[in-house]
Amino acid sequence: MLESDTSKLSKKELNIIQNYTEGLFKTVREPLLVLDRHKNVVGLNSNFKKKFKVNGEPEAGVSVFEFNNEQLDTPEFREILDDLQTEGNSISERNIQVALPQKGKRGFKVNASVLPLPDENSIILLSFKKLKNIRDLSQQEKVYNRLVENILSNAPAAICILRGPEHTFEVANEHYLKLIGHRDIIGKTVIEAIPEAESQGFIELLDHVYSTGEPYIGNETPLKLKVGEEQFKNSHLNFVYQPTRDKKGKIDGIFVHVVDVSEQVAARKNVEDSEARLRSVINTVPAIIWITDTDGQSVFLNKNWYSYTGQDNEDAKGMGWLNATHPDDRKMAEFAFLEGHNQRKSYSISFRLRNKQGGYRWVLDKASPKFDADGNYEGMIGTVMDVHEERLKENLVREKDHRLQGIVKEATVATAIYTGREMNIELANDAMIKLWGKDDSVIGTPLHKALPELDGQPFLDLLRNVLETGEIYWGKEDKVDLMIDGEMQTGYYNFTYKPLRDKNGEIYGILNMAIDVTESVTSKMLLKESEFHFRQMADLMPGMVSKTDGKGDDIYFNKNWLDFTGKGSEHLKEIGWVEYIHPEEKETFLKAWEDCLNTGCNLEMQLRLKNKEGKYIWHLSRCEAVKEDDGSVKMWIAANTEIDKIKEEEKRKEEFLKMISHELKTPVTSIKGYVQLLLSLLKKQQEAAEASKLPLQPSLERINHQVTRLTRLISEILDLSRIRENQLELQSEEFNLNELLAETIQDINYTNTQHKIALESKVQAHVVADRDRIGQVIINFVMNAIKYSPGSHEINVKITREDEDRVRVSVKDFGIGIGQENHKKIFKRFYRVGVKSEETYSGFGIGLYLANEIIERHNGEIQLNSELGEGSEFSFILNATQITS
Ligand code: ADP
Repeated sequence: MLESDTSKLSKKELNIIQNYTEGLFKTVREPLLVLDRHKNVVGLNSNFKKKFKVNGEPEAGVSVFEFNNEQLDTPEFREILDDLQTEGNSISERNIQVALPQKGKRGFKVNASVLPLPDENSIILLSFKKLKNIRDLSQQEKVYNRLVENILSNAPAAICILRGPEHTFEVANEHYLKLIGHRDIIGKTVIEAIPEAESQGFIELLDHVYSTGEPYIGNETPLKLKVGEEQFKNSHLNFVYQPTRDKKGKIDGIFVHVVDVSEQVAARKNVEDSEARLRSVINTVPAIIWITDTDGQSVFLNKNWYSYTGQDNEDAKGMGWLNATHPDDRKMAEFAFLEGHNQRKSYSISFRLRNKQGGYRWVLDKASPKFDADGNYEGMIGTVMDVHEERLKENLVREKDHRLQGIVKEATVATAIYTGREMNIELANDAMIKLWGKDDSVIGTPLHKALPELDGQPFLDLLRNVLETGEIYWGKEDKVDLMIDGEMQTGYYNFTYKPLRDKNGEIYGILNMAIDVTESVTSKMLLKESEFHFRQMADLMPGMVSKTDGKGDDIYFNKNWLDFTGKGSEHLKEIGWVEYIHPEEKETFLKAWEDCLNTGCNLEMQLRLKNKEGKYIWHLSRCEAVKEDDGSVKMWIAANTEIDKIKEEEKRKEEFLKMISHELKTPVTSIKGYVQLLLSLLKKQQEAAEASKLPLQPSLERINHQVTRLTRLISEILDLSRIRENQLELQSEEFNLNELLAETIQDINYTNTQHKIALESKVQAHVVADRDRIGQVIINFVMNAIKYSPGSHEINVKITREDEDRVRVSVKDFGIGIGQENHKKIFKRFYRVGVKSEETYSGFGIGLYLANEIIERHNGEIQLNSELGEGSEFSFILNATQITS
């Protein structure tokens, strides 16, 4: 129940209410009293003052019961206020008696209503009407008046009532009059009173309401009102056209209730304008911008979103924007957004967004939470940028990585990729896994776990160093111990640790490529070993051994060389061992050596080498070429064997032989002389005194033959010594070569009857030469022809012209012949072909040596034409002083 209590309103509340009531006072003409909810007087209008004789302004907040000399403190008035609550906040047409000063008691009709205000405030409006003589009014009029008074006086809105189909203004409250600029309207039709309303469609609306009975509600409807000559005012109105009906229910007018919302509309328009401006700015940004509300629902997307995705407003609403993401990226995009939204934190994410054409492009979505001035979360705001090209480039790098992986897999070279500090085996091809002696399971594990045997070996540290410094490591024939088939095995590898960098240049891993060179390293080691053995052997050998490379530079000397020369190996390498050869042999050696270097043939010669005491010692020097598979000379091995003692022995032997020959020659010569003397005596005797019965002559002839052989042998041995000592002197004279040949053959025929020696003289030649020595050569040729052709009887001796001033003598047999390989050798001292022939054919192997020496000293030439089993033809060529045919 309403109590007049002592509570007062705050000043602020009071102000609000007073402001409000002021509006009312201007509108309502009836005496009007306004109370607050505590029944204190808030305000009163001038009519009230006049009617109730209020002097001056009432004291603010005075209780209504105390107000104006407790005028209203009557039981009826108190009842009205009490009943206000129970009767639905409104009391109408209650009569009260009020004592007016000087006038006494007067009757008033009271209408009261409680008007709720914002912030749970309310006011009580009380209008008073002096009681008329009620009997003068019709009942309908009474009701109508009450209603109109009530509405008009209390309503804060602009109200009017239009009558009839012409819409004639019947009543209008102050608000309404103010709205239309206080025009004189009562009794006029709307068209007459407000002609500008027609063109704005209001008459049409009124006609419609009047004719159909359907009320019309206008919402923020603009109205342009004329406020002066050519002056207009724009208003926005919320209004209701409510038809009124007469007793029979027939429409007789329209109740118009208008609220001017121009200010609100203008304010909102302002906001909308600035929002529109913002939107247009946002729309011109070359990026997609989106805003969500506090529930995470999309409330704004700038036009770039729509033009990019082809979505419309409806599509994108709420979480609809997700439909434009790539199906594979949708979950991720949604998750990122919800997480950012729920935790009110910024995020950035890249996903594929479908464009209008249906293609997908990579975008970067960056979002931040939005807060108002008080820090309340308002939703998320974000931008979406097309980063397709960048992303493709990135993918390219990844793809490159992928390609790299492909290459690694395909590579025949053992290859692996490690990543991170732990050296995770990211990839290893079959070759590498085989090299490790492991299986596929090592992929994905850290290297030190996959190959625990590396612990204690330098490789993990090397890898870490590559990761830190970015410097490539090249391993050359590095020794690696690996556990293969349950056994520690040592191998040697050439390998690289190469840093791998991402697109920003950061090292993210290492590429390891390895080649197993165990075989070559071990064979090199074996080679070194065998080289060592060779040196050891060479040092142990009695001779002096040296090695020379293919170009002829000395590269090795054994210990004996060092001992012999008293010099170090470096010194010998520098000057070369040739420097130690005696000047007499040096030139011959160098010539032969050069020939060797050019042709790759071997060399053998006797020469003297100077020892550390400066003494020359005879050596047999042999240089043998060691060749590569292609035939080129890899190196030469030279062995010098000391033959000084042998030489000396030989010398002594020769001296002995010389002496023997000399000693033998005298008695043999005298024996021969006597035998010949006896033979000639015997011949004469036979002619004179019959032949003796004794076989004296054949015996003597045999003796003579043997002595001739012996004499020749002794001469030859003597000649040998002479040649060695360079004492073989020639007694040159001019003689007829044909005659010498005929004589010699005749002599031989004398003792050899088995063979038929034919002499064919194509030319007659005179030569200047030692007749005996040339004879000796002819004898040697013919005797050999006889000796080595036991199966044939024919020997052809020929003298022919070689060229203009040279003559050739040749002796041809049809005997055993000589193999090509021996053609040169048979001219050497004591050389005889084959052991068997030595048994079959007597001889010492010095005849041809002497023959060669003799012819060479005559500046002639010996030639041999022979094949094994095909007979031989020996010939010599001499300069002739005269050749005639
Ligand atoms: P000898 O005949 O005393 O052995 P030579 O110096 O005269 O010594 O000959 C050297 C070698 O040459 C002989 O041992 C022989 O093997 C070979 N020889 C020489 N002449 C002939 C020939 N006419 N037919 C075959 N072999 C020959």
